[in-house]
Amino acid sequence: MNVINPATEQIIATLAEDNAQTLQTKWERLKTAQPLWQAHPLEERIAVVQKFSALLETNKEQLAHVLTSEVGKPLAQSRNEINGAISRINWLTQNAAKYLGDEVMTETADLEERISYEPLGVVVNISAWNYPYLVGVNVFVPALLAGNAVLYKPSEYASLTGLEIERLWIQAGLNEDLFVAAIGTGNVGAILLDMPFDGYFFTGSYKTGQFIYNKVAAKMVPCQCELGGKDPLYVTDDVADINAVAAGTADGAFYNNGQSCCSVERIYVHEKNYDAYVAAFEKEVQSWKTGDPTEDGVYFGPLTRKDQIAVLEAQVADALQKGAKIITGGKRQEGKGYYFQPTILIEVTSDMQVMKDESFGPIIGIMKVKNDAEALAQMRDTEYGLTASVYSSDQQRAAVLLQQVNAGSGYWNCCDRVSAALPWSGRNHSGFGATLSHAGLRAFTKPKGYHLRKG
Ligand code: NAD
Repeated sequence: MNVINPATEQIIATLAEDNAQTLQTKWERLKTAQPLWQAHPLEERIAVVQKFSALLETNKEQLAHVLTSEVGKPLAQSRNEINGAISRINWLTQNAAKYLGDEVMTETADLEERISYEPLGVVVNISAWNYPYLVGVNVFVPALLAGNAVLYKPSEYASLTGLEIERLWIQAGLNEDLFVAAIGTGNVGAILLDMPFDGYFFTGSYKTGQFIYNKVAAKMVPCQCELGGKDPLYVTDDVADINAVAAGTADGAFYNNGQSCCSVERIYVHEKNYDAYVAAFEKEVQSWKTGDPTEDGVYFGPLTRKDQIAVLEAQVADALQKGAKIITGGKRQEGKGYYFQPTILIEVTSDMQVMKDESFGPIIGIMKVKNDAEALAQMRDTEYGLTASVYSSDQQRAAVLLQQVNAGSGYWNCCDRVSAALPWSGRNHSGFGATLSHAGLRAFTKPKGYHLRKG
């Protein structure tokens, strides 16, 4: 399997893909090692995870370069991603004892009722490429803390990073049979679905998530899907500083080239603020530099996948044909690399693909709305349910709106944000289950209820 640098289109590595036989051997290693890991005291498991985190810190520069070389994100954003992973690990390790330890629920003279959180066993993590450290850490860190063994299948677009992660676990002192990477495309992922894992944890697209959920249903083991989104954002008429709101929300739409599951994907603006918002939004986007992602100051690198260029072109063509106007961008960029111009569309309508289907690129539609009722109807008009955001100086006004949107995260005066302390969780086509928070620590366990009658 060739690894291609999306900025240069050059092959930077060739890796051997796994197959049914090598995967079976890897599974057997994990299966044998897992019970011993489960038997380790939690504090020892936490210590290994902390060592891994320290290695992310000391190796950050080299890891950031590897990540940028295969996914094309600007180096500064690669460093940020690793910093974010370290801070999530901090929260998870600091809270592991609280949420993974036994809980005594009832204690009387003759009865104790207790919950014990047992690991699932050998779990598989089929992962995405857009934030391999962040979405990876969400799964494999709590899984290992809870006493599981992990087969980690990085995306084929982030395989070098997957191998770096495997190397760092071994360097951190984890037995090499407890975290094993599987290299390959979706075909390798599909083989894993026929194997007897004790839990399936998937991050990726709705289409693949639906396939995986269907395929593993008969096994009756936990399956979690963290999928895509079409995340709406509403700017009301009472925001204090429209320029600051435009700048912050433009970043929410275009950070990592719009390739975030929680990128702002649709913007609705109250008519009173519409013109000022659009002008400030455009000014902000025009101020960002596009170029070689290893160069300082570059905000837009190439897209990670060449195929996505055609998706964005189709969304632009569909929007223009249905009456939208382009303010800036709209085309792929000439020359080497998978570059697409940052694109802003106005006069958009809800039947346009750009307002319905996940774009996963540097493209945004901005729609004018008359009032909160119209904004709410638009925000709710989606099959996805990952995040939703409202900008207003009135918290109560935002709360009323956010309560009525069926999404896993609600943002007031912020967007495109993840916190380790809160559940990260989708609804409808954005998936189900949760990572992060106490829910994400316990997602890799099965609770056992002990009824202990004394004497
Ligand atoms: P993808 O669905 O194309 O691939 C994800 C993983 O699934 C890869 O490792 C791939 O090799 C594997 N895969 C593909 N086909 C398979 C099959 N038939 N059987 C088993 N495995 C298979 O998604 P992607 O392009 O890597 O990621 C982008 C998507 O992920 C976007 O929709 C994005 O919104 C979503 N995402 C969601 C979250 C979240 O937390 N909700 C986070 C990051 C990305």
